[in-house]
Amino acid sequence: MTSSPRPLLNRRLAAFGTTIFAEMSALALRTGSINLGQGFPDTDGPEEVREAAVRALRDGRGNQYPPGPGVPELRAAVAAHQQRRYGLSLDPDTEVLVTAGATEAIAAALLALVEPGDEVVALEPYYDSYAACVAMAGGRRVPVTLRPQGGRFRLDLDELRDAVTDRTRLLLINTPHNPTGTVLTREELTAIAELAVERDLLVVTDEVYEHLVFDGAEHVPLATFPGMRERTVTISSAGKTFSFTGWKVGWVTASPELVTAVRSAKQYLTYVSAGPFQYAVAEALALPESYFTGFRDDLRAKRDVLVAGLEEAGFSVYRPSGTYFVTADIRPLGESDGIAFCRALPERAGVVAIPTAVFYDHREAGAPFVRFAFCKQRPVLREAARRLKGMGDAKGAGGR
Ligand SMILES: *Cc1c(COP(=O)(O)O)cnc(C)c1O
Repeated sequence: MTSSPRPLLNRRLAAFGTTIFAEMSALALRTGSINLGQGFPDTDGPEEVREAAVRALRDGRGNQYPPGPGVPELRAAVAAHQQRRYGLSLDPDTEVLVTAGATEAIAAALLALVEPGDEVVALEPYYDSYAACVAMAGGRRVPVTLRPQGGRFRLDLDELRDAVTDRTRLLLINTPHNPTGTVLTREELTAIAELAVERDLLVVTDEVYEHLVFDGAEHVPLATFPGMRERTVTISSAGKTFSFTGWKVGWVTASPELVTAVRSAKQYLTYVSAGPFQYAVAEALALPESYFTGFRDDLRAKRDVLVAGLEEAGFSVYRPSGTYFVTADIRPLGESDGIAFCRALPERAGVVAIPTAVFYDHREAGAPFVRFAFCKQRPVLREAARRLKGMGDAKGAGGR
């Protein structure tokens, strides 16, 4: 008998108790704050896509277990989308796998491809599920820090090279990047691709924000670079592109061998999911180009409202080229600890943000940065901006 009871949560997950989003959302609720923490839109996606889901439900399509790889209509729509937008030819029967959101795709890819002890090189700050999934797979994460320079967060190519060792199994990439809003440039992507080929690495790339790029920035899938088609697992999802984050329809595209490997893990995670929604997302992917440009332009305008508000409130802002998020530096406000700042912000200003330090292994590198989501209605963003601007006046008064 040991004197202290064995902890319930296993060692692999011990560091991942509750997410920052749970803490901040509870704080938002308790204080009646505007929640710009979690990245979900406060308006639903296109009505015709919602109707397509209703039709599928009523017509009895997908109400029972859909096929393991996903319904053929959706796999065909994903393949057509990759061909149309990026010139990538995929066999919908062997090179597309439908998952329960990008989240399951990430988990299945890492569980399938990582051997205990393997190193996974990931860009930090990283999306929160990466660290937990690498841990569940028994891998070791090796962060490469994106650092602000010239108004954007950049990848240091030397740092990336130095991070790769003989134990490195794969590179876990995310572009457009959450939380920094950076879109990796062609130059950065070329270097990643060259490194992967040179060191014979697999690449798992999370491209869920592929449609959400602004100001002429271009999303280029890693799979389109020379030598990458056969070593890249590309992940995307309907949640962000179509504003249906609750539907949890995602997909993997890769070579037949990689899809088969990822599917081996996926079939024992959820097996299948979201039957009727899969049919609706197949229709969504075939929407005319005007939907995609319209949504992007609307989101860019929302970004501009929030960025202007944050600048007026005294933050130093990294104007994002993509995603739902803007990262701001709190040092011009005389602050340096983003975690303390975000814990106090709801009382101080009635707004919730997320400290990005929690997405770093090198916490000090992320200490002064906080992330705000702008995928909200304009009046909400304007009110948040107004509250943040009044933050100084209300200090100590507990009001807003
Ligand atoms: C939202 C998000 C996901 C999860 O996508 P789901 O389809 O909702 O599972 C994955 N990666 C990144 C970077 C995200 O922001």
